[in-house]
Amino acid sequence: MKINKNLTPYNRWEGRRGDRVEWIVVHYTANTWQPDLAKNECAAFASEYKGASAHFFVDKTEIWQSVAVEDTAWHCGDAPSKNGCRNTNSIGIEMCVVYEDGVYSIPKATVRRAAALVAELLTVYPDAKICRHYDVTGKKCPAPWVDDPALWDEFLKKVEESREMNETEKRNFASLSARVAELEAKVKAGEEADRVMSGDLRRIDGRTKVRYDRVSDCPPWMRPTIRKLVDKGFLKGDQNGSLGLTQDAARVLTVCDRTGIFGE
Ligand SMILES: [Zn+2]
Repeated sequence: MKINKNLTPYNRWEGRRGDRVEWIVVHYTANTWQPDLAKNECAAFASEYKGASAHFFVDKTEIWQSVAVEDTAWHCGDAPSKNGCRNTNSIGIEMCVVYEDGVYSIPKATVRRAAALVAELLTVYPDAKICRHYDVTGKKCPAPWVDDPALWDEFLKKVEESREMNETEKRNFASLSARVAELEAKVKAGEEADRVMSGDLRRIDGRTKVRYDRVSDCPPWMRPTIRKLVDKGFLKGDQNGSLGLTQDAARVLTVCDRTGIFGE
């Protein structure tokens, strides 16, 4: 998951004042200008003091981070709240909106991306609970999810699906790694077999390549025959005079010589 960063130096507290992340709070920007883009939001918060902020901005195609998760963003207040969530113990995510004919909607791709981001954050903060800004203070945020709570339920389902997908991916990756290790072991065993086999072949080759190029190369019992054949011009060899006789050929000639066919 790609998370772009443009951290604000103005709209945050360093650290969490002794609190830890217990909540992940989802908002919508409620911006009326269009297009409402995460990158632009992030840039605006990075440019000046606004007295408000969020850790992340999400739109249809991107995620932009404005405040480090170790630091406190100002997105849901510090007063005692309905569910105990406050700025210092939460991570705030703003979803960019589409505003048309006076009506806000949150594009499906934005919802999907926000759910994937929440799932990712839950791998770091597995005990964190998820809520709407509405659940913290009663503010109508994100408005479409307050008007239609089924959309909120759908979002929670998407977070679960993203988590399961992450788990499956992790498992697939683990089994893939195991498979790769197995194949590597096989390749190594194959290479070893190749090495042994080519050694054997070299040795066999070495044996079959016995050649008698000169009379003196032949075993003593063959020499009289081979010398006679050379002297008589029956055996001439190649242009260098190398006879190139295999062991078998030399033996056959020697046996034939005993029959007297080559004369004295
Ligand atoms: Zn909000």
